[in-house]
Amino acid sequence: MYPWLESSFDSLIARYKIAKLHHGLLFMGVADAGKTQLCQEIAKSLLCKTIAGTRKAAAETQSSGLFEIEDIALQAPDDKLEACGVCKSCLLIDAGSHPDLHIITTEKSQIGIDIIRQTISKVTQTAQLSGNKVVIIPQIELMSESASNALLKTLEEPTPNTYLLMTTNESQRLLPTILSRCEKQTIALPSFEQSCDWLATLDVSIPSRAALLAHGSSPITYKKELEDAESIGFDDFLETLQGLLEGSETANRAALKWQTEAPKVVKWLAQHWLERYKSTQNISAYDNYQACLVASKRMSHPGLNKSLILTPLFDQLRTTKVASFN
Ligand SMILES: [Zn+2]
Repeated sequence: MYPWLESSFDSLIARYKIAKLHHGLLFMGVADAGKTQLCQEIAKSLLCKTIAGTRKAAAETQSSGLFEIEDIALQAPDDKLEACGVCKSCLLIDAGSHPDLHIITTEKSQIGIDIIRQTISKVTQTAQLSGNKVVIIPQIELMSESASNALLKTLEEPTPNTYLLMTTNESQRLLPTILSRCEKQTIALPSFEQSCDWLATLDVSIPSRAALLAHGSSPITYKKELEDAESIGFDDFLETLQGLLEGSETANRAALKWQTEAPKVVKWLAQHWLERYKSTQNISAYDNYQACLVASKRMSHPGLNKSLILTPLFDQLRTTKVASFN
């Protein structure tokens, strides 16, 4: 569990234990904030037999004042919120074969109606493990309109003991009717300090503020890119940029070096110049930022040789004197 998601997790599962959890939860926020992992952790707890045991006990205590727990193995402290990891349900989840957990993924750029219909038809049946049924749909903004309408029906008329856990990076693309039928939870990125603390526990080198910002302020993105041997490192990027600005690196050479990851480099450059503009109010920095945006737009056309866009951009950046920013 990502530490910055613990409080969201705790409050949702605490509500589940007193039967106050909404059946349709939509987690909103930027990419790589940990939304899908949060859904997976919630699903584990919703399906865990030990938690179900304590939930039943808690509910019975509330209604009658006395209860008996049939299976002693299912006893757990009432404040336990994380899945036990040892019950049948937890073991099936770990093995990736829980019959009542459905995770919708798609290789395509769209989630079609067929997969939504198939999944809905599965959860309208009784749970195979006689507990809850959970559907996880990451990035529901990718659903086609017909898929959205099919899902809407389930949100409006939920089947008992069924929870839909959805995420979106672009809530503005969702049908208003979908938005209004879900309980929305905004998942924020961790602070810089939280990010560094988490990375330190994994023995990942601690980023500078600029490096984390270059990775969308997400320590998850930062870690992923650091582990990708093919990927350009932010420190390497800064070094080459410095060389470009000081004249020890040519625009041509830098363009060739970066052409395979041109969109990322241009995004970093744009961020770099925007930050410089904010801190110095220097108009040249703003011009450079604008030039990066134009280059980024041009790059979205497929089939274009990226180095032909990068070289003139780098030439423009080089004409900006480094000294003028100090
Ligand atoms: Zn369990």
